[in-house]
Amino acid sequence: MFRLVSRTVLPLRRAFSVAADELGIVDPNVLGLCSSGRVHEAFKLINSLNSPQSPATYAVLFRACAQLNLLHLGEDLHRCVLLRYPNHPPNIYMDNHLINLYAKCNSLEKAHQLFDKMPERNIVSWTSLISGYAKQGKSIECFSLFANMLTHHRPTEFAYSSVIACCGVEKGKQVHAHALKTRFVANSFVSNALIIMYSNSSELEQAWLIFTDMQFRNIVSWNSMITCLRNQGHWIEAITLFSRLRINSIQFDHTTIIGVVSALCLSSVDEIHNSLRYCFQLHCLTIKTSFDSKIEIATALVKAFSDLGCETSHFYKIFQTTNGVRDIVSWTNMISAFSEREPGKALLIFNRMRAELIPPDCFAFSAVLKACAGLVTERQSSAIHSQMMKYGFESDVTPMNALIHAYARTGSVRSAKRVFDEMNHRDTFSWNSMLKAYALQGRANEAIELFGEMNICPDGATFVALLSACNHAGMVEQGEKIFDRMSSEFGIVPHLDHFACKVDILARSGRIAEADEFISTMPMKPDSVIWKSMLGACRRYGEIGLANRAMEKLKELDPGNSLGYVVMSNMYSSVGVYGLAGKIRNEMNGLGVRKEPGLSWIEVGNEVHEFGSGGERHPEGVEIRGHARRLVRKLKDAGYRAETGICYYDLDEEQREEELLYHSEKLALVFGLMKLVGFEKMMIKINKNIGICVDCHNFMKVSSKVVDKEILIRDSNRFHHFKDGVCSCNDYW
Ligand code: ZN
Ligand code: ZN
Repeated sequence: MFRLVSRTVLPLRRAFSVAADELGIVDPNVLGLCSSGRVHEAFKLINSLNSPQSPATYAVLFRACAQLNLLHLGEDLHRCVLLRYPNHPPNIYMDNHLINLYAKCNSLEKAHQLFDKMPERNIVSWTSLISGYAKQGKSIECFSLFANMLTHHRPTEFAYSSVIACCGVEKGKQVHAHALKTRFVANSFVSNALIIMYSNSSELEQAWLIFTDMQFRNIVSWNSMITCLRNQGHWIEAITLFSRLRINSIQFDHTTIIGVVSALCLSSVDEIHNSLRYCFQLHCLTIKTSFDSKIEIATALVKAFSDLGCETSHFYKIFQTTNGVRDIVSWTNMISAFSEREPGKALLIFNRMRAELIPPDCFAFSAVLKACAGLVTERQSSAIHSQMMKYGFESDVTPMNALIHAYARTGSVRSAKRVFDEMNHRDTFSWNSMLKAYALQGRANEAIELFGEMNICPDGATFVALLSACNHAGMVEQGEKIFDRMSSEFGIVPHLDHFACKVDILARSGRIAEADEFISTMPMKPDSVIWKSMLGACRRYGEIGLANRAMEKLKELDPGNSLGYVVMSNMYSSVGVYGLAGKIRNEMNGLGVRKEPGLSWIEVGNEVHEFGSGGERHPEGVEIRGHARRLVRKLKDAGYRAETGICYYDLDEEQREEELLYHSEKLALVFGLMKLVGFEKMMIKINKNIGICVDCHNFMKVSSKVVDKEILIRDSNRFHHFKDGVCSCNDYW
């Protein structure tokens, strides 16, 4: 709701520095109407009078237009004055108001024309035009105008702060020096602008110096300094400054809270515990001060809680209890907060937003597509796809890239490729997303072919995609070649990810000693991912000695990870060294390291069903297990044998078989077969949180033949497409 602050003409005169007799008196009716926001009525009144009005009256009208962004109305009046009263003497006061109107309403050209035509100008004329250019970010024009003004006038604090805000740090330093000379640097307007300017460069000390030297700091100064610390990544210092503000009993505003809350998102993994505590305290403070109902603050809190890994239910409550009107930013923020952790809920929130008649923008689409990528089937991705067409986003490259990613992650490479082909403009992300789609499926030849068509510069991520495609397809020589070409031909320095891919390529193919040798030549310290792939390869090829070393490294780098213990214990028990196997299990249990539970998801109807190992939590668990036992009998007739070697050594053969049979992906498959009767052509899609085990892999292969169904499993590494008894990975994963 607009409120034109009812001011008398006196401060107007002061602000625009003009003698009173040139101004005349403001028509009281016009002033009254403008003060209550009824500007159109004021115009009608002026038009009905057949005599020229005082410059003060016109000024009030122009000012009202500027405040309400009524450019056309102001222009009409300007034209009218010129036509009806051509002999009206030019008035600097009225012209300054006009410049202000044009500058505020982004009609800079007109403002400048008027400025050029003025027979005389004062400091207000200059400042109005300078702030107009600053507002539009036209730094060159703004700076040169400021420099020109210096030969005529001493700048005001408004001129200083405008030019500082837009001219960048290099020129800003010159303005800073000038302000030091004129002592304007002591003015809080100027100092605050300088702090913000230095905060956008990396000169934190300069900003801090200005802040500490300030004699009178207002809340804007504190906010600017907090923002500055945040922008430079110093979240603890931002919080400390906020505490100082509180100790000094300075009243903060919503910008302060947003500054501090958003600083929390910068904390590193080992600082999360502390920053989450601060986040809860800040949330309490916002409730106490009633700031929590402001949508911008709720949005910042949701983002911080979500980034810090807090329970989704907690920040969902914050979002729900905001009274303010939720805008597209707050909705998108909420969708993003859920998209990875609870993708189904992210979709529901997206639909609720649409139900409240808020049209999605490209950011909302990108956020919801991130959620779609985490779902089992491409059904939701294609629903969002059609909405994007409806809203006309098919030429917007960012959400289209997100769409390729979503189709790729749900196993629909064909749809991903169709989107990719139909794009008018593609950036590196588009190409990389498509290459990753092929990599996930182990379709290395198609990836390499697409890379050959790439008509823009590849980056590091392009090569990660290519290398992992070769890796998943077992194309060792190609992978090695690509690794070498990356630096020799494209000048890209390999990073940890590239080294990890190459180690994996060598190790998986059985060249473990070579992989080990390669690790020792790496320019950086190998991370846990590299030791995990070494461990996996050692298990596969029975390299106990090297596996032991990899396990020790893994324990060091990722102490909570169970993989090393599990692999070693299994390796020892498979060669009959049960004593050592037991010792490792005990060590793992003693340290409280838990094996990540295997979970699988399948979509039946419109519902996603989750299975854990054993399937006890599913309401139809008993029936599913019965079906599984019947199925395994059929599979055994077709040649399936349970890989009991990978089980705990302290179980007997029958218990081992049973344990294997109730692995989550097998139960998901059985459930799918039970429910999808009548959908013979439909492929069964299953998502899995960790890598598929060798027994489940065999089970799926034989099942695909026995029940004559295509099965697609996405595990933590890639897709396995089972058809007619074989898997797309050729047993190489
Ligand atoms: Zn399994
Ligand atoms: Zn496979």
